[in-house]
This record gives sequence, structure tokens and C-alpha cells, in this order.
Amino acid sequence: MLNDQFQLIQECKPIFPGTLYSPKFFIIKQKEMRILHHSNKNPYIRNMKQTALNDTQARSNQGENALTAEKEETQGVSLMPPAFSLTADSGFPVQRKQAANSGQVVQRVATPTVPRGGGTHTVVAGDNLWTLARRYYGHGPYWQRIKDANPDLVHGRSLIHPGAVLTIPIVDVPIQNALDRARGDQGELRDVAELIPQENFDVFMAGLTQDQIAAQGEFLQMVDLMRRTGMTIAEMGEAQRIFLEGQAAAAGQSVGEYIAAETATRGYGGGTATWWPSLTPEQQADYETRFRAVVDQLRATAPANVQQVISTAESQGGGFRWAPEQCEIYGAFGYTNGDWTLYVGQHWLEAAEDNLERVYANIAHEMGGHNEYGNELGWDVMSAALDSMPESERNLATAGGNSVFSAYGYMETEIWAELREHEYDRADNPTDHPFEHAGATTVENDVQRQLQRIQHSFAPAIAEALVRSLYQRASHDSRITPDALSNFAIRISNVFGFTP
Ligand SMILES: [Zn+2]
Repeated sequence: MLNDQFQLIQECKPIFPGTLYSPKFFIIKQKEMRILHHSNKNPYIRNMKQTALNDTQARSNQGENALTAEKEETQGVSLMPPAFSLTADSGFPVQRKQAANSGQVVQRVATPTVPRGGGTHTVVAGDNLWTLARRYYGHGPYWQRIKDANPDLVHGRSLIHPGAVLTIPIVDVPIQNALDRARGDQGELRDVAELIPQENFDVFMAGLTQDQIAAQGEFLQMVDLMRRTGMTIAEMGEAQRIFLEGQAAAAGQSVGEYIAAETATRGYGGGTATWWPSLTPEQQADYETRFRAVVDQLRATAPANVQQVISTAESQGGGFRWAPEQCEIYGAFGYTNGDWTLYVGQHWLEAAEDNLERVYANIAHEMGGHNEYGNELGWDVMSAALDSMPESERNLATAGGNSVFSAYGYMETEIWAELREHEYDRADNPTDHPFEHAGATTVENDVQRQLQRIQHSFAPAIAEALVRSLYQRASHDSRITPDALSNFAIRISNVFGFTP
């Protein structure tokens, strides 16, 4: 079914544990103060140190996922009775999906595949069929396919000799294996992604457990973005730079000037703390006691899903932190900086003391949503765009007091966080609202506002793919409720004119 696309994958590429970011790219990130916020006037700072930490963590998580996926796939293949194979009809082998605890087979789902391999491999000392199968297919047990394709070059059970030129047959391998194998190579990841039709990607995502979705969400969204655009992140960065240069020319500015002006318009700045420093030590101690009492009540009485957010954050070394002075400086009700911690101040405490239900949404948003989302793909694209500009323009773009991230990167994580809080949104929440809310006094429809900003800030094809990939990810993550998802779809349709 994909014969005409085989040329795309016939060149055998080496595997190497690369990084998605060039050193130059990191320099950009280092210059960039990453600011998230809770409303337009509520910023916080996430600095380079945390970004590097997150990147390291993400890579180590990916390594663990790869091991897990390999193990599961091996089990899936070895358990697969031939009678259940649907390969001939649908192109999919069939894998048993087991209930997490019972061990019983509850349903059978097709495992969509992509063709991998092709070309030849010249054997060098140290090669063996297992490692070659890992290298070309992401799956050791496929060594037999290589053996079968080279009857004259494989001796005995599996002996191969240096210098032999082996044919590497094209084999349909499960998507997870193909992706794991391509993880370190953006070009290969793009090539794999492009071979996955929408229908197969949906089946693949639907076959993952919630734990797998949660652990790989950011990575799989990147794959989806590549699948939809046919570009690596660096290539999207080039397209984004060209888009920005066009916008700048229309405004009679250089591209650096244009980005700086956009950032000055939509970015965020800081405030000063006056209330907390004015309190006596006794008054401050009293507030801290009240804060601890509220946290104890939340731990004891919050709904199960909120408790889950709290326990996940605490298991990551985060949780609640009393930070009244920083909240004043940022103008924040509560904020997080990517360390699974919800930093809170006076207004948060008073709302919680009034009614604990008034802070559930904020907990789901800050402690859950922003921390679960991971790196923002649009920001990765924008960083690559900045990376491809002349240094003088890059310096112009980043020279202002506001964060370029807040104007170009923040929107996706904010949408995700708003979708997460929707379940607990109330008219008397002291923060903005995900969607229109009857009786609300604070800002409504933050999701639609962020969608408009994505549309405004990115090349059209990238903006559309970003939004579609975000929706796709949300649609497979059980932490996003069906009601939040359907509201999201309506706002996408309102802004972009398509139904995701
Ligand atoms: Zn937020």
C-alpha cells in the first residue's frame, strides 16, 4: 500500500544517540527567560537551568520508555498466535491487549506498522544479526528476516562475516519500534512519521495505555507534528523564519524588530511586592500556619483526580509552597515553574479558606497541566527559527524586557492547562476561565484567545499542524475530559475554520 513511498526509506542511516537541539539552539534557550503565567498580568520565570533539567529528564524518560516498549513488543510478538494474524488483509499484525491487573485478554487491537529497512549493509567486525535488526527495525527478533533475505551470506544459524554485503529487506514494523529506533535522528523520525497515515496513527495512539500516553505525550505530539508537516523541527524553523520575514517586511521592519515589537505587545513583565514585606514576623507566621492548614485539608478532602495531581507532583519532588512575595512580584494567584510545585500567595490562600473548591481548578492547571505538558513544540520551532537568523536580528528580537517565549511559546501549555482545569472551573474561581462561563467575573475563553495567538504567531501550515497535534494528543489523554475536548474542538473551529 506504500510502494511508491519506499524510496524515502531506502537509504540506510546510522543510529546515534543525538539530541534534538544544536549547541547554538541551547544558547538561544539560555538567553531566553521562559515565562509562563496564569493570566495576562501573572507571569513567572522558568530559566535555562530548569529547561536543561527538563530536557535531561525527558531524554532519560525516553530511554526508559524505549526499554518498556521493547519489552512489551517482544511479549506481544511471542504471544501472538498465528491464527490471529490479520496482516494479509489489513497490513496490521494483531497484538493482544491485556487488562492491567487481571492478565486476561479483554480485546484485540491491530498494531499499525510502518515499512522500515531497505538497502544493504556491509558487515563489520562486531556486527551480529540481532544488533542489525535492532538498528534497522528497532526490534531484535526481526533478525530472522535478515537471515531469510540472505541465504548465501548467513552461515549456520546466524554467522555472518565481515565484508559481506547483506540485503536489508523492507519489513513492516510496529510504529512504536520504528519511532524508538529513530528517536535520536530528526531526519529519520520525520521519514518514519511521514509514512504513518492518520488512520494508523489514531489506531496506534488508541492502543497505548494512559501511562504510555502520559510518559510519551510530548514526543508523540512531535512525531504527529512531523507527520502533518513533513518537516523536522529545524525545517519548520526555516519555514517559520520565512513567515516572520514576510510579516516583518509587510510592517516595514527587520525580522528582529518585528519579533521584538510582537513580544513587547504580548509578552509579560513583573511587579513589586509591597503587602508581604509590610507584615510583622508574627503576622507572617500566622499566614504560614493558615497555609499549612489549608494544604492539610486539601490532602484530606480534595476529589480523587485532584489528589492524584497532588500525589504525582509530590512524587516528583514538588507540591505546595507558600510564596506570597513572589506571587506579588509576578501578580500571580498561583504559579509553577516546571518543577511540579504550585507556589501560592495571599489571594490563593483566602480563596481556599473561603471554599476549597475554588482552588481545585488552579491545582489541576498549575501543578497538573503545565507540568504534564513538557516542552512546547511551537517554542522549539520558534527557537529553531531564531537559530537560523543572523545574530544581529536574533539580538534585536530578544533585546526587550519581555520574554519572547511568552509571545511565541506559551500558548500550547496554557491551552493544555486550561483543558485540565475545566473539570473544576467555577464561576467564582478567582482566575480566568477555559471557555465562556455564565456568571464569571474574570476573563473567559482563554483557550480561544491562545488559539488566536497561535494563528497570529506561526506560519499557517505550522499553526494548523500544531493545533491538530495538540488536539490529537488531548483526545488520547484521559486526563482531558470529553467535555473539555469537545469545547476545545468548537474553539478550534471558531478560530481556524476546521473541525479537528
Ligand atoms: Zn497557566
